[in-house]
Amino acid sequence: MTLATTDATVGVPEVETTHKDTRRYPHGVAFMDGQYLPMSEAKISVLDWGFLHSDATYDTVHVWEGRFFRLDLHLDRFFRGMDRLRMKLPYHRREVERVLSNCVALSGHKSAYVEMICTRGGSPTFSRDPREAENRFIAFAVPFGSVANKEQLERGLHVGVSETVRIPPKSVDPTIKNYHWLDLVRGLYDAYDVGAETALIMDTNGNIAEGPGFNVFTVKNRQLKTPAFGVLPGITRQSVFDLCGEVGLAVTAADLPRLELGEADEVFITSTAGGIMPVTRVDGSSIGSGKVGVVTRQLMDLYWQKHSDDAWSTPVKYA
Ligand code: PLP
Repeated sequence: MTLATTDATVGVPEVETTHKDTRRYPHGVAFMDGQYLPMSEAKISVLDWGFLHSDATYDTVHVWEGRFFRLDLHLDRFFRGMDRLRMKLPYHRREVERVLSNCVALSGHKSAYVEMICTRGGSPTFSRDPREAENRFIAFAVPFGSVANKEQLERGLHVGVSETVRIPPKSVDPTIKNYHWLDLVRGLYDAYDVGAETALIMDTNGNIAEGPGFNVFTVKNRQLKTPAFGVLPGITRQSVFDLCGEVGLAVTAADLPRLELGEADEVFITSTAGGIMPVTRVDGSSIGSGKVGVVTRQLMDLYWQKHSDDAWSTPVKYA
């Protein structure tokens, strides 16, 4: 299998230091319209409803040291989302899995951020009827990325709570992973305005919902809690439930009032982009001791250990 166009950098890991693309695309490989392409050449039509209407669903899985982490759960969520949006692809699950593996293998990355996307596409006759659209599948593998950088992982993130309300679940089903991010981006700017590094926004009942690309947990007296309503059921969030089951920690999904966040012993966020990441300041005040908490640390360690466990991870199969 080869790339559709030649790219001297393909096959070279650790892109940031080696790639030669002056347009500063991350080094990686994409799959679209049946071809593998360097990231810089993966482009869609401006008429695609994925772009014009955010009419798309996607999923992101990561690869760590040559192994996909919980790929089956990500594929389940992706196919469920497409079903609910009445989208169809000419690829079966096994084929999507193979394309993802090929993107990673061709990119040369040992650790990667791997995205699969289905857009509504467009109608060949410019009809406005979504039933006539030809859905489009895109996948790509780029270097592993994290919500928190190294320093933030060590000392904990500083989070600002924004009054912005996440789009209501009755408008957009949050269990379908989507690109409706104007509320999350607005929340980010609110957070930056008060000197925070990232944001949490509210649900329609005034409780904490989620942040740009992550779920949130509190720990109080060793009991964990995460919002149940109006959020994406994250795979990393699910991993925290599973890890808590293994080590005997109590965890519930329930409403999380803003006040409880500030009064927690520990707070952490969860995302495929970074895993379990500590939060040590909320709205300018320290959480607990102001240091990364014991429970957070224990879960972070367990989470990364699972990346070499056959029950939680699978090797990238090279094409
Ligand atoms: N919430 C939102 C809005 C997200 O976009 C994401 C991931 O991108 C998450 C939560 C975390 O989900 P996961 O753990 O599956 O990455």
